[in-house]
Amino acid sequence: MTVTDEDRTVRATSPINPPTCWSTPPAPVCGVGRTWLARSVGPPKTSTRTDEVVVTGEPTLIGAATDVLNMADVIVAGGGPAGLSAALFTAKNDLETLVFDTDETWMHKAHLFNYLGIDSMDGSEFMDVSREQVEAFGVDLSQGEEVTAVEETGDGFTVETDDGEYAADYVVLATGADRSLATELGCATTEEGIVDVGVDMETSVEDAYATGAMVRAEEWQAVIAAGDGAAAALNILSKEKGEHYHDFDVPADAE
Ligand SMILES: Cc1cc2nc3c(=O)[nH]c(=O)nc-3n(C[C@H](O)[C@H](O)[C@H](O)COP(=O)(O)OP(=O)(O)OC[C@H]3O[C@@H](n4cnc5c(N)ncnc54)[C@H](O)[C@@H]3O)c2cc1C
Repeated sequence: MTVTDEDRTVRATSPINPPTCWSTPPAPVCGVGRTWLARSVGPPKTSTRTDEVVVTGEPTLIGAATDVLNMADVIVAGGGPAGLSAALFTAKNDLETLVFDTDETWMHKAHLFNYLGIDSMDGSEFMDVSREQVEAFGVDLSQGEEVTAVEETGDGFTVETDDGEYAADYVVLATGADRSLATELGCATTEEGIVDVGVDMETSVEDAYATGAMVRAEEWQAVIAAGDGAAAALNILSKEKGEHYHDFDVPADAE
């Protein structure tokens, strides 16, 4: 699907969490890049910034600039079932969402017979379908970009990758059984060494979430990881809305 300048302008200037969008699925937007994000215009292709800028190059952005480059609402480290599920829910509900993934998901070794609703599917095919689905909801998915550090700033988080530096209000850690980013961030762990979270997946570091294989010793299943990601996202969305939130659609939404 081709994204026009008009599409990008609409997304770039849309308010976060417009009230009418909370129960209405947005029109899918495919193939978007991080440069069009409402609060992300980096790396800038212009040398100066004004209140209204036109960023040249590919893709073209016309939108309002802010002081913060590479800013998102939510950054997800890891794009397996846990990370992509979290990203689906946050992006579907109009939070600007970046996912960085190094594509070493265990799903490439799996064949699914035990994921509810799926009879039989190769794990890599599951990832292909999942990536297409989240990108259709506007997730900015950076395959091959590794998160190297996550730090609290007192006003959110900075996230360093091997390709740049980003900032976000919330961070979702979904790096499989690799818990190193969580421990470096200071997230508490249990006696077993797993990241300590409750049912909302929030860690001991406020607004930092841990999901998927890192929060369980051995009970690793794709459907559980996806559920973890959804739980983290709904907690983020509840905080943003200021009240408990669920993402319900009805048959009429599909018409
Ligand atoms: C051989 C095998 C067979 C399996 N079979 C099944 C099965 O039949 N059914 C089932 O339900 N489950 C199965 N599983 C388990 C299932 O694959 C996991 O439960 C699931 O993949 C966990 O999802 P996750 O998102 O937590 O982690 P992962 O799927 O491992 O995804 C983590 C992602 O984060 C990325 N990453 C890591 N560090 C970074 C970083 N610093 N920056 C950016 N990205 C990073 C990784 O590259 C990876 O893509 C199987 C697992 C294995 C090993």
